[in-house]
Amino acid sequence: GIRVRFAPSPTGNLHVGGARTALFNYLFARSKGGKFILRIEDTDLERSTRESEEAMLRDLSWLGLHWDEGPAVGGDFGPYRQSERNSLYKQYAEKLLESGQVYHCFCSNEELEKMKEIAKLKQLPPLYTGKWANATDEEVQDELAKGTPYTYRFRVPQGSLKINDLIRGQVSWNLDTLGDFVIMRSNGQPVYNFCVTVDDATMGISHVIRAEEHLPNTLRQALIYKALGFPMPYFAHVSLILAPDRSKLSKRHGATSVGQFREMGYMPQAMVNYLALLGWGDGTENEFFTLQQLVEKFTIERVNKSGAVFDSTKLRWMNGQHLRALPSEELNSLIAERWKTSAILTVSEGPFVDEAIQLLKDGIDLITDADKALRNLLSYPLRSTLQSDEAKPVLEDKLSEFSISLLAAYDSGDLMAALEEGHAGWQKWMKGFGKSLKRKGKSLFMPLRLLLTGKLHGPDMASSLILIHRAGSMGIVAPEVG
Ligand code: GLU
Repeated sequence: GIRVRFAPSPTGNLHVGGARTALFNYLFARSKGGKFILRIEDTDLERSTRESEEAMLRDLSWLGLHWDEGPAVGGDFGPYRQSERNSLYKQYAEKLLESGQVYHCFCSNEELEKMKEIAKLKQLPPLYTGKWANATDEEVQDELAKGTPYTYRFRVPQGSLKINDLIRGQVSWNLDTLGDFVIMRSNGQPVYNFCVTVDDATMGISHVIRAEEHLPNTLRQALIYKALGFPMPYFAHVSLILAPDRSKLSKRHGATSVGQFREMGYMPQAMVNYLALLGWGDGTENEFFTLQQLVEKFTIERVNKSGAVFDSTKLRWMNGQHLRALPSEELNSLIAERWKTSAILTVSEGPFVDEAIQLLKDGIDLITDADKALRNLLSYPLRSTLQSDEAKPVLEDKLSEFSISLLAAYDSGDLMAALEEGHAGWQKWMKGFGKSLKRKGKSLFMPLRLLLTGKLHGPDMASSLILIHRAGSMGIVAPEVG
């Protein structure tokens, strides 16, 4: 059956690159009825932490990428942490020693350094010279008896090796430039590539989908696969995620970890959708996909082999698409809760809240925009607008007749009474006001908007004014905003 894995090293946060790798694996498994496995690659004991592992599990769960086997859920192929699989690695290393595909190497570090220097002088590649590759049993026994520290070195065959990458097509390597490599260090620790191969093989992984930067590892891993006599999995190497300047995406380009985006208010649906588009598309213009739709549409053949640019503006836009795709009740309560928790409003329901949401939701891409939108709307209550220092020059010079009449309507209470009656009241008042000044259309709306809301542009003016008025007269707004 189809079995894929995501194998993060718990040495930091889950970044968008890792999250996309996880997503492609997840989509591949779900679209083929296979299994999605999570394996923790914590062989680097110094840099690996449990906190990082837990944070990664939390981020994956938040994205909705639930795994069938792995930490927290278990499974038949465990343990799912490399640090708990040491005996298995040893066992397979011994197997390769017995079959002669690895050999003891007793070279000290100084000796290896010297070999490299000599190679350099001779202008040869700095490869292992094969000093211990053909040692006799006696020579080996001698060193073992002396207690000389040793590594296990993998005997690299001659010739070339090729794989058929599902994304990149045929990839081939010349083995003559590799040199016999270490699979177990002198302290008995197996090296990374060996662990990964033993794990993928013994966990029955059918497809290895991972970042392009692992291609050099694939060469070594493929050789180990062959030596162990395991069937080779399919490989698919996904291209890098690039910054807008086409350099490798990194922290200096802004937020890059999934946790940062969550804290900024992004929705997991939008993250997943956007990550899928980094190197994949269904071949149509459509860019909006739910996780379920992605499962239905995803094929590995459509994954692009060139790098994909991470565009945070597009991610933000995407979030707006998913926000507005929520059932309206859900969206409304999300926004209302937001206003309540950020203490802009003293209430979280009622006609004021409903109307404010109606008026403002199209301008909200990220839930945090809701605060800005409402503050913006309410930061010019009628009274202070008309009485503010800012308004004075406008009132007195530029539109004097207009503004004096408006102020009069305000002072007499006519304007308030009209707003009290909602849209019909406002329309009626505005018509009369325009008539008295012989103004209509733009020359009426624009100065009205400017004087009453303090801005030349914004959401629907009538609704805005009714809301502003209501907020002021009903004490709906927290004091610091008004
Ligand atoms: N642990 C590796 C990483 O975090 C992934 C290795 C793999 O997918 O084979 O980059």
